[in-house]
Amino acid sequence: MVNEAHGKKVALVTGASKGIGQAICVELAKAGYRIVVNYKSDEMGAAKTLEMVREAGSNGNMVKFDVSNFNETEAAVDAILKQNGSIDALVNNAGITADGLFIMMPRRDWDAVIDISLSGFYNVTKPVLEKMIRLKRGTVVSIASVAGLLGNRGQANYSAAKAGLIGASRSVAAEVARLGIRVNVVAPGLIETDMIKDAPVENIKTIIPMARIGKPQEVARVVRFLCSRDASYVTGQVISVNGGMF
Ligand code: NAP
Repeated sequence: MVNEAHGKKVALVTGASKGIGQAICVELAKAGYRIVVNYKSDEMGAAKTLEMVREAGSNGNMVKFDVSNFNETEAAVDAILKQNGSIDALVNNAGITADGLFIMMPRRDWDAVIDISLSGFYNVTKPVLEKMIRLKRGTVVSIASVAGLLGNRGQANYSAAKAGLIGASRSVAAEVARLGIRVNVVAPGLIETDMIKDAPVENIKTIIPMARIGKPQEVARVVRFLCSRDASYVTGQVISVNGGMF
């Protein structure tokens, strides 16, 4: 069923001003979704994403909000729903790192990462899901990480946030499956974006069986599959996109 406001399904992608989020917007645009491009600070990046969405044959708009801020997010989701009638696909992609050995980790770095990746899931998904439940349709995909499955030295905060995201997603998936709403997770390995610009890429490549870094589009295409009817019997799953790391 399509959205009554403009005849297209609507996708909200958080953290879509660059990197994986930007690529997801383009893939979902190709699949016919109207795209709501969320960003926190990079307005030019978000505008570029919207331009790429239009080049891919769809349309959309930009909405600035901080997913870690409950009130700001609730108001933004409310406005998006009023404007569009529904959010048919939600992609929880916004995320940051604040790496350091756990023993040296300041509390603010722990909180910052948890607040965006894990509490951000709560803040965005809850109001979106309320509407999906009323409409008895919709799909949610959240971007976790190989670190959330395996842990990673220097990333206790990030691994905890991403493992929490996986647990929350599987639980919510079980709660809403009977209503026709699917909830899944994509767990990327090392992907070529700003997030890894300071990572020791050459060293890390040696532990990737495919011996290369992934591209944002390689994650985005899996998200597109999960948001499509081709994935109609897939829910509560974690799909790794990591060049065969395990
Ligand atoms: P990126 O290039 O650094 O982009 C991060 C995006 O998140 C930006 O659009 C940023 O918006 C947004 N963002 C950050 N804090 C936000 C907030 N509080 N509210 C709303 N948006 C916020 O990162 P990326 O590599 O594309 O990562 C995307 C997702 O994939 C993240 O969840 C990350 O953990 C995950 N991931 C990445 C890799 C990798 O190797 N790159 C691997 C595994 C998982 P602004 O620019 O507007 O601030």
